[in-house]
Amino acid sequence: MTDLHDRALGAYLGLAMGDALGATVEFMRPREIKAQYGVHRDIIGGGWLKLAAGQVTDDTTMSLALGDALLQGGRQALADLSSGDATLIRNIGDAYVRWFKGKPVDCGNTCRRGIRRYMNEGTLAGEYNPGDGGNGALMRNLPAVLATLGDDAAFVRLSIAQAHLTHNHPLSDAAILGLGRVLGSLLGGMNHSDCQAWAVQWVTDNPEFRFTPYRGYATAYVVDTVQTVLHYLTLHDDFEAAMVATVNQGDDADTTGALVGMLAGARCGASRLPQRWLHRLNKPTVQAITHQTKGLLALAQTPR
Ligand code: MN
Ligand code: MN
Repeated sequence: MTDLHDRALGAYLGLAMGDALGATVEFMRPREIKAQYGVHRDIIGGGWLKLAAGQVTDDTTMSLALGDALLQGGRQALADLSSGDATLIRNIGDAYVRWFKGKPVDCGNTCRRGIRRYMNEGTLAGEYNPGDGGNGALMRNLPAVLATLGDDAAFVRLSIAQAHLTHNHPLSDAAILGLGRVLGSLLGGMNHSDCQAWAVQWVTDNPEFRFTPYRGYATAYVVDTVQTVLHYLTLHDDFEAAMVATVNQGDDADTTGALVGMLAGARCGASRLPQRWLHRLNKPTVQAITHQTKGLLALAQTPR
């Protein structure tokens, strides 16, 4: 396995681990988690969704839906998108509809509204809506980063288009571009201290997301989500330490966990992920992620 492949697989498996670990304590307050678990550090399922241990939620399954659509379209669909053809975005919309009709364990309100709008009216992007500032488009964008690695213009076009199927909000867009670009750098081997320096610079350019001092809000509002992710990602170099600290902040813990897992997983690579978490993850999910990682990287590395 190449370094890039190891880091990309680390990012995708890290996303699923954070989702599965965090879902147990989603919507809980930190003090409730402490009272019930001490420190929550194992993939045990449960939570408000009553999950099996190792089961993932919308954060992972929507990412897999996006990845499926990208793999199905292949290199030609990405090239067509670059020349202004929206077929790929409709195929992504169709993949979200199939996902939705498959009765997922959870689905955010903004995602539900956007998918229904696409289903009923074929709308590829809703009007700007101040209520679209949730993290639902950000949480699923990893496959778009992998498929367009090394081509920033294609990354921006694809990421924003897939996002606007459900979320049309400048802060969601900014978060998607920021975290997507740093994921690209981490996949290229960026280390912890360069990652810290990047975060300082990025919040200078995007002051809404300033995370020092950390306010301790970890809700699904994309600003709270990103502040939590950057706070714990830059505080801990160690994957497990970053993940445990993040999910014990509670609230939208599966999504903050998924995003920290994605970035910290890219930083350390799949070979250094905690084995006890890897073994707990739902096997078909691990297989789908392994398959997609290879295919999506092949899309990016195919010259076009
Ligand atoms: Mn979820
Ligand atoms: Mn969530």
